[in-house]
Amino acid sequence: MQMDSHDAAEYISTRMEDYLRQTRSIDPSRRFRCLDADDPVKHAHGDRNPSMTFHKASGVCKCWACGSKYNIYTLIAKDYNLPTGASDHALFKKACEIFDIQLTPRDFKKTEEYKKKVEEEKGKHADFTGKYVNDDQAKVSDGSYSQEDLPDKTEYFERCTEALFKNQYALNYLHSRGLSDDTIRKCHLGYDGEFKPYERMKYPMRAIVIPRGNNRYTARNLSQTAGKAFRYISVGRFAPSGLENVQSGGKPVYIVEGEFDRAALTEVGRFAISLGGTESAAALAKYLSEHRPEGPIVLALDNDPPGQEATRKLRKMLEDEGIRVFVSRRHLPDIFFGAKDANDALLKDPEKLKESCPNSLEELESREKTFVRQKMKAAMR
Ligand SMILES: [Zn+2]
Repeated sequence: MQMDSHDAAEYISTRMEDYLRQTRSIDPSRRFRCLDADDPVKHAHGDRNPSMTFHKASGVCKCWACGSKYNIYTLIAKDYNLPTGASDHALFKKACEIFDIQLTPRDFKKTEEYKKKVEEEKGKHADFTGKYVNDDQAKVSDGSYSQEDLPDKTEYFERCTEALFKNQYALNYLHSRGLSDDTIRKCHLGYDGEFKPYERMKYPMRAIVIPRGNNRYTARNLSQTAGKAFRYISVGRFAPSGLENVQSGGKPVYIVEGEFDRAALTEVGRFAISLGGTESAAALAKYLSEHRPEGPIVLALDNDPPGQEATRKLRKMLEDEGIRVFVSRRHLPDIFFGAKDANDALLKDPEKLKESCPNSLEELESREKTFVRQKMKAAMR
């Protein structure tokens, strides 16, 4: 496969586990014989009681007897007798060769040709992060939150999920965002290694595919070097997702902004809907008035002006429909305890996130009481 050196370095760093399995038939999930067991200085009598363990998150294995440590690069250096100095490219080249990576030319980025291409792409995709984002958009009528005229993508989403579980790199990306396989399946996340939704898009990209309903989706570009404008691409109007969670069996339904925030709350066992952009507030309120949530609503949008505005609107519209609404930071202590959003909170402390998101109406009411009392006390001081 072809990638630039940035992506290649990152990809290689995730391959330690496979490398141990393939080159040594080691099962890294258990203790194994030290990689330096044959070194008489480190292990005078071998390593008969396996002393080495592999730490998945860091990609490092360590021997608890002799203290030897290896990551993928230092292990390849050992295997091929290469120097490990930072300035040595032979090691990186070797690693690329082992994992069948063709590097895009080193200086390609700096060339005039490349700059021109980037400018061209920017011009074409200038609206990708905006409100109206795709070729099909012209067909889409304005207004209500209906299914629009986009073709059904259910089969494609299923293929993407299948592909995701075969691609350790993409899977690692989601794991690194704190999401488990179970949540990945619940949110129908997937992977497309040749993502190219529009004819006019020149280069396919490797992307995480996040469905919104059965025909719209957002893709998260996995290239580390992608500019901000290319990081997320949406097909179909930004719209709420996770709407099936209105059927919560009486439990609270959390409304958050982004798809990864919804996944983060799913991870800690909560029912969540993502707004997918503050401009969808009216559409979501309409949907909720027609499909009444089975539990109270907790609004936890971003704490910036558009988020606050959407919160006000949603709260008013829902309360007018007689739906019970709690607002994070207003009726409850900040449920993300100062983190930027739900996904950020999940990465900081999953247990704390779970704890700070009540899972029943009674719990919400009792937290509200305490919070209001605290606020009053503080005001009287
Ligand atoms: Zn050892």
